[in-house]
Amino acid sequence: AQLDTLDIVVLAVLLVGTVAYFTKGTYWAKQADPYGGSLAHANGAKAGKSRNIIEKMEESGKNCVVFYGSQTGTAEDYASRLAKEGSSRFGLKTMVADLEDYDYENLDTFPEDKVAMFVLATYGEGEPTDNAVEFYEFIHGDDVAFSEGGGADDKPLGNLKYVAFGLGNNTYEHYNSMVRNVNASLEKLGAQRVGEAGEGDDGAGTMEEDFLAWKEPMWAALVKAMDLEEREAVYEPVFDVVERPEMDAEEDEVYLGEPNKNHLNASQKGPYNAHNPYIAPIAESKEVFNTNDRNCLHMEIDVSGSGITYTTGDHIAVWPTNAGKEVDRFLTVLGLADKRHMVISVKGLDPTAKVPFPSPTTYDAVVRYHMEICAPVSRQFVSTLAAFSPNETIKAEMVKMGSDKDYFHEKVANNNLNIAQLLETLSERAPWPSIPFSAFIEGLHKIQPRYYSISSSSAVQKDKISITAVVESLAKPGAPHIVKGVTTNYLLALKQKQHGAPEPDPHGLNYALTGPRNKYDGIHVPVHVRHSNFKLPSDPSKPIIMVGPGTGVAPFRGFVQERAAHARAGEKVGKTVLFFGCRRKSEDFLYEHEWDQYKKDLGDNFVLHVAFSRDGPKKVYVQHKMKENAAEINELLQQKAYFYVCGDAANMAREVNTLLAQIIAEQRGLPESKAEEIVRSMRSANQYQEDVW
Ligand code: FAD
Repeated sequence: AQLDTLDIVVLAVLLVGTVAYFTKGTYWAKQADPYGGSLAHANGAKAGKSRNIIEKMEESGKNCVVFYGSQTGTAEDYASRLAKEGSSRFGLKTMVADLEDYDYENLDTFPEDKVAMFVLATYGEGEPTDNAVEFYEFIHGDDVAFSEGGGADDKPLGNLKYVAFGLGNNTYEHYNSMVRNVNASLEKLGAQRVGEAGEGDDGAGTMEEDFLAWKEPMWAALVKAMDLEEREAVYEPVFDVVERPEMDAEEDEVYLGEPNKNHLNASQKGPYNAHNPYIAPIAESKEVFNTNDRNCLHMEIDVSGSGITYTTGDHIAVWPTNAGKEVDRFLTVLGLADKRHMVISVKGLDPTAKVPFPSPTTYDAVVRYHMEICAPVSRQFVSTLAAFSPNETIKAEMVKMGSDKDYFHEKVANNNLNIAQLLETLSERAPWPSIPFSAFIEGLHKIQPRYYSISSSSAVQKDKISITAVVESLAKPGAPHIVKGVTTNYLLALKQKQHGAPEPDPHGLNYALTGPRNKYDGIHVPVHVRHSNFKLPSDPSKPIIMVGPGTGVAPFRGFVQERAAHARAGEKVGKTVLFFGCRRKSEDFLYEHEWDQYKKDLGDNFVLHVAFSRDGPKKVYVQHKMKENAAEINELLQQKAYFYVCGDAANMAREVNTLLAQIIAEQRGLPESKAEEIVRSMRSANQYQEDVW
């Protein structure tokens, strides 16, 4: 039959619509700018770069791409390590790629002679990391639509060779669900996995060893699958670090710790987000308790005028600065102390290598603001550095540590050493001048903002965000080094300064509190807000039960503050039950007197159950208090109470989950399996929410 004009018009419209659908508007709309506004340019002009990974690989002559889905930087670091090893040991032409920088509709045209590696962290309740959300929704969706029309084919990814490793935590219910689900989706789409899909477990503290154990058989399988040849790995730097003696560190274009171009210019500009912190004034700071071995800080961070908004239950991220003492140690052991303010330009030797900080900069700025120099040392990194040892004896020791897991644990991990402490111990403080600076840029994590559960209510103080943080100080019996938390000691130093200490110096750590070019002077700290799903019911008359021992009480202070405000405004507020636990009433009972005030506002609708673990002959924890109040808990749950847990993920949160099922089983006379099912369905209906770390 012939087509008349109307048919043709209809077909043309349909065709345009279909193309628009399958290309997700790529040809029609300006590409989404992942950083928003002016920051795109501030951050190395990402906008305008191709989102086509296959084209990018062709252009740059790559045959292996390592994608990462990373929240705290570990997955990104593992991705870089795989890329590096693939290149130095097997001659692969590798590149690392942030999952959010590419589109995936053309994965069905991925060439057969190349390989894609996926290093995927699972975040929170089995969720993808922020940068992997789009990829995950695409690949795990019900109808994956590829641009070559592969959707009609039941094996559209038949050509794709891939490798997968996941980073998870077995204390969470959805352990490693990201790598498991992506692996299942890729298999379903016909892709060919090389080696096993690996799983690293942060909960058991074996992430690094799991990774090392997974990658050897994976490489062996890849050698077969791609017909590779292993060669002796020789270190090749990824970054070119050029000293610029002709430049002065004070010149306007030199980054002295500013996170991006926006901050280098005179005044900072929003929007503020994970790529662009706001240098916020600290309105108030105090220690809510302070004992011989522990301090807990309460801070009020002023975000007025910044455009930053939050809702009760969100997180605030603090961008840390390394302690002066550790920066000095690091620069000294590398022999860089004398030229710490030398201007350096850093660029990738390969067009796909991304420098993790802005340049030109100085050694001091990189080490102080951009590298995680205090973290535990990776065994693989020790192997890499062995070649640059100052003498053969030290080299032999480094090689042994790098290859013998038990020896490494005995000498390094169990002693809580950071990298500079290890190097200076081995060399008896003699410098290690031959390690290329690039090796540290590659081998150490990019410094990560630390998250805090906001402990105020946005309904009560929308412009001031509270933090409740315990200052980390970890002394392991027998270990020579006490680990002092980077961020919490930085915050403690700020608090001391705010209270008039002329040279705040918590534990001799000596932070550069006024920041790059004194931009943080007057007690400021760089922050951004991360929105969470940990939320009060929108109807305040619904009952809630909260379990938050220690600093786990942080968000619940915000919750109770909010409900007290509703009550003061004459609104009906449901039962508000809080289980809190600490060591002693006289020592670390957080916000003891504030709860009395909330009690006045909420009356009998506020019930606080406190467990003291060291006040009596018997240790009492929140779990004991929950058991004692099982009938009340059950009754409230039957009235559809929301149940919240915050704090320690490793033990407490898991035990509370199990206990809740036991309470339900006992109180309702149900078999435990049935009660467990009820708890699971509470979770999926968001009636059971966790904020754990
Ligand atoms: P880091 O320097 O990061 O050290 C942390 C720990 O790592 C040390 O105690 C030690 O166990 C280990 N470690 C570090 N270096 C070494 C080494 N060289 N050798 C061996 N071990 C080492 N905390 C709060 O206090 N309050 C909150 O409300 C809160 N909310 C959070 C919410 C979320 C969503 C998350 C993810 C975390 C939250 N945290 C909270 C924890 C917080 O983010 C930080 O992890 C914590 O404050 C420690 O940070 P730090 O930089 O001081 O310590």
